[in-house]
Amino acid sequence: MKITDIRTFAYRIPTGASASSVGAPQASKEGSPSHGRTEDRPPIDDFGDYFIDQSAFTSIYSHHHESTVVRLETDTGIVGWGEAQSPVAPRVTRTIFEELIRPLVIGRDPFDIEAIWTRAYGAMRERGHPTGFYIDALAGMDVALFDIVGKATGKPVHKLAGGRYRDRIMLYAGMGGTDPQEVADKAEYHVGHGYKALKLHLLVDRDGVADIAAAVRERVGPGIKLMVDVHMRQTVSSSIELGRRLEALDFTWLESPIDPSDIAGQAEITRALDMAVAIGEWSRTRYEMREAFERRAYDIVMHDIGRTGITEGHRIATLADTYNIPVAPHVGGGGILAVAATVEFSASCPNFMIMEHSHDANAMKAAILKEPYEPVDGYFHVSDTPGLGVDVDEDRLEEFKFPE
Ligand SMILES: [Mg+2]
Repeated sequence: MKITDIRTFAYRIPTGASASSVGAPQASKEGSPSHGRTEDRPPIDDFGDYFIDQSAFTSIYSHHHESTVVRLETDTGIVGWGEAQSPVAPRVTRTIFEELIRPLVIGRDPFDIEAIWTRAYGAMRERGHPTGFYIDALAGMDVALFDIVGKATGKPVHKLAGGRYRDRIMLYAGMGGTDPQEVADKAEYHVGHGYKALKLHLLVDRDGVADIAAAVRERVGPGIKLMVDVHMRQTVSSSIELGRRLEALDFTWLESPIDPSDIAGQAEITRALDMAVAIGEWSRTRYEMREAFERRAYDIVMHDIGRTGITEGHRIATLADTYNIPVAPHVGGGGILAVAATVEFSASCPNFMIMEHSHDANAMKAAILKEPYEPVDGYFHVSDTPGLGVDVDEDRLEEFKFPE
């Protein structure tokens, strides 16, 4: 079997104007820290389609949902889909795929998944692209190859990627805000939809985080698992002080307390706190993570399968497992194919802990599918459908794609 055709789609689903037309419950700046209304977040520098918070040196986000999907087809007529996660500038990812990855994939046997990945990764090492857009593009290739092999063998992807460790994937729902009672309202809303675990994206100062955390704990009671992501807005000392207050509220983890490139500082926080410190959504390869594991700078690793793919995602998970570190896959700006790939990865990951999920954005993301892909009561149920388990509606994709 050979790959004989490749098509790439950079697409944008406007989360404001056309949200109702795609069945989205509400506009949502998916992937952005507030996961919600603009009035809930600190001031932004607005660049039209994209924006950055004024209050910190943090990531650029889109006002829309954007990504790149790749479609590989074999000489036997099997079509595989993958997502090269692109929360901003998806046309860059598309170009990388078309110019650099296409020639490495055309004519190859799709069963050579790891061999193709290794060759493609090596191809750009000397060019200075060990992470970022290029690795995101490789993730799309990897997932599409898994989809093909699954369809060719009649097996779901998780059976090819290590086997099924569990029948359902526990999710936590994310939410943000600045007012304690409003965040508590959102927490109650998600508990009402069956979630047993919630994460608060809090872009306020240390005392503000502690106040919101206390209000949410009081509202949802002791039976709900709670986490906080502070998006790198703390210092080493303020993280430790905040962590102690969160420990008293029985929070499960403190996420991204400081700039993750400060591995020594990260390790200091991790050592000082009894509660877990979670980090890792930025990192795409085991090479980027090795030092942090060696120095015990994480208690929980949260790489994003939309950025790593399944092959490298499993390598990172295996490395983490060697250090007794559980995996809580990040799902932020990724689209529905990244969600499906994360479910398949999670089913086949021995040290899986819990998966991130955006309750209100999921239906909007799934607008490119023929059938809904939804969790039930806070869990995705692992399916036996061959491949990724989702079917892309090419007409819908055409509707949302950027012009060639
Ligand atoms: Mg995070």
